[in-house]
Amino acid sequence: MHSAEHILNQTMIRMFDCGRSFSNHIEKKKSKCDYHFERDLNQLEIAEIENQVNEVIHNNLEVLEEFYLREEAEEKFNLSKLPNDAGDKIRIIRIGDYDACPCSGLHVNHTIEIGDFKIISTSFDDGILRIRFKLLED
Ligand SMILES: [Zn+2]
Repeated sequence: MHSAEHILNQTMIRMFDCGRSFSNHIEKKKSKCDYHFERDLNQLEIAEIENQVNEVIHNNLEVLEEFYLREEAEEKFNLSKLPNDAGDKIRIIRIGDYDACPCSGLHVNHTIEIGDFKIISTSFDDGILRIRFKLLED
């Protein structure tokens, strides 16, 4: 789930130039991510996001854990979501050449392990786009 969230975030950035989700709720069965946005998504966009995320998953990219010194990490990544007490060594999760971001969560080793990505629904309220999604196991 965590790995899927990273791929979804990078896909949203590439398609809409919005930031990563500023708030999310990741669970085993269903998850949701919130983005600062201007409107709801249409069916075509939802299908496009699903296709893109699933393509990345099926490319079976390697998920790597890298450690950077805080100074170095500040130059390369947005650390604003990290707690201040995260320490001097920052853990970066890199998904092939698709995405890299600081994270302390649990991840798969290869994207194929994620399963199929499916958007359940989206909604828009007061500048916030919410995407609810699930993963279908084989
Ligand atoms: Zn993560």
